[in-house]
Amino acid sequence: MDLLKQRILAEGFALPGNVLKVDSFLNHQIDPILSSAMGKEFAALFREAKIDRVLTIEASGIAIGLTTALELGTPLVFARKKKSVLMTEEAYSTQVFSYTKKETNNISVLKKFLPKNERILIIDDFLANGDSALGLARLVEEAGSEVAGIGIVIEKAFQAGHKRILDAGYRLEALASIKSLDNCQITFTD
Ligand code: 5GP
Repeated sequence: MDLLKQRILAEGFALPGNVLKVDSFLNHQIDPILSSAMGKEFAALFREAKIDRVLTIEASGIAIGLTTALELGTPLVFARKKKSVLMTEEAYSTQVFSYTKKETNNISVLKKFLPKNERILIIDDFLANGDSALGLARLVEEAGSEVAGIGIVIEKAFQAGHKRILDAGYRLEALASIKSLDNCQITFTD
């Protein structure tokens, strides 16, 4: 998606440790116009997959999950990273290691918001080693539903997640795919 790539090049910073900082439009401040365009792009990619529900994870997945769900006409559900006192009902949960926070979270979704026999689109902001997306996929499968696809705003294709997701048999679509962040230079795949 050219608009996204331009924003990454104009505003992104490649930090040591293969981390891309894009907090001016995706991870802290959020650009509603770009988010809307990305939701339309995901909806166009997955419309024929007959999605029943979009699933993401707090916090940065929510904005893009929302614009995607709005375009597809489905509900959006986000997995919580910490258990809330309000989550008194039964939930699906699984452990996920956070790439940026370097801690393991027990992510969870209430069972009533993840019914069985649905086709679920998983959306997330970044793909690195794939722990987050594969954790969400485990919740979907535990619920007795199907992962109809995984949509990622920015994948770092040189890290393990891309291959792990394809090896697990899931359809993967990324709006921007980064080949390298070597020497803090951003290079996209062709
Ligand atoms: P994974 O679970 O695939 O290893 O990492 C994906 C998650 O870690 C995303 O939900 C995102 O929050 C965070 N993440 C991974 N790599 C980056 C990065 O380069 N920049 C930012 N801002 N977040 C990242």
